[in-house]
Amino acid sequence: MKEKVLAVDIGGTSIKTGIVEEDQILEFASYKNVWKGHQEKLVPFFNKIFQHWIQQYNITKMGIGCPGEIKDGVVVFAANLKWHNFELVKQLQQIFPQMTIKIENDGRAATLAELEYGKLKDAKNALFIVFGRGVGGSLVINHEIYTGSYNRGGNFGHMVIKNYKARKCNCGRKGCFETYASVAGLVQTIKDVNYHSKNPVPLKELGGLRVVDLANNQHPIVIKAVQQWNLDIAESILSLALLLDPSHIILAGGITESGLIHIELIKEKLKEQGYEDVVVELSSFKAKAGLVGAATLLK
Ligand SMILES: [Zn+2]
Repeated sequence: MKEKVLAVDIGGTSIKTGIVEEDQILEFASYKNVWKGHQEKLVPFFNKIFQHWIQQYNITKMGIGCPGEIKDGVVVFAANLKWHNFELVKQLQQIFPQMTIKIENDGRAATLAELEYGKLKDAKNALFIVFGRGVGGSLVINHEIYTGSYNRGGNFGHMVIKNYKARKCNCGRKGCFETYASVAGLVQTIKDVNYHSKNPVPLKELGGLRVVDLANNQHPIVIKAVQQWNLDIAESILSLALLLDPSHIILAGGITESGLIHIELIKEKLKEQGYEDVVVELSSFKAKAGLVGAATLLK
C-alpha cells in the first residue's frame, strides 16, 4: 500500500519539507535555515509547522535527511550547521510519540531515492554527488550504499583536492573537495577571480541564484569562475572514478537545475583516462532528491 510520509531535507541554506508518497511530492514548503548553531530551537519550530500536515494526512511516519555524521537518531556532528550531539529523533519523539521517525545522512538519503525510483535502479557501482552549501552524496557498491567500517564511508566532500593556498574547510582541514565544488565554493571562486579583475562582480549578497543570473547574462568574471569550478569538479570526479570504477555518476542539488554544471566536460575527462562507458547524468529528482530520499528511509 502506498503511504504518505512527512519528509524533511535539512540543508545548509534551507530546510525543505513535504508530504511524499513514494516518489511523488504532494505538498512542499521550504524555509531558510536560520538554526545554524541553534539546534535547541529547531524542534519547537517543527512542532509548529508540522501539526497541520500531520492532521490533514493522518501522518504516522517521518523521515529526515541531515548533513554530517548521523548515528542512532543523533546528529553527532554537522560541521556546516555547527550542531553537536543533537538528539533530534529523541526530541521529536517526545512531541510526536505515535510517530515512527528515521534520520540518515542527507547524501545517503538522496541516494536511496535514486536507487529505489531513479537513475540508479539498474546501477551496479555508482557515485552520487549532491552539490549544495557543501558537497554530500555516497558511493554505491553492488547496488548498496557503502557505509564503511564505522559508518563514515563515502565522505568524499572532505577529500583534499588542493594544497597550494588551499581554502579552509569547516571540518578543520584545508583544500577539501566541497570548498571548491559546492555552491559556496563557486561563490569563493568568483571572489578569487574578482580579486584580479578590473571589472569586478558586486559581491554583496552573492548567492547561488544571483550567480546563475550573472552567468546567464554572460558576466565575464562569473563565466571564467564557472569554468574553473567545472574543471575542479571534473578532475575530482575523475579521481573518484579511478577509485570506484563506477557504471553511473549521478549529480543532484539545486545548482544542477541551473545548467551551470558541464556534464560534457566530466565525460571528456573520464574518457581521457579510459572511462568512456560511464553514464553521467543529472538526478531524476535534482533539488528534491533529498526530500524523496528522506521519505524512502521509511520504506
Ligand atoms: Zn573538509
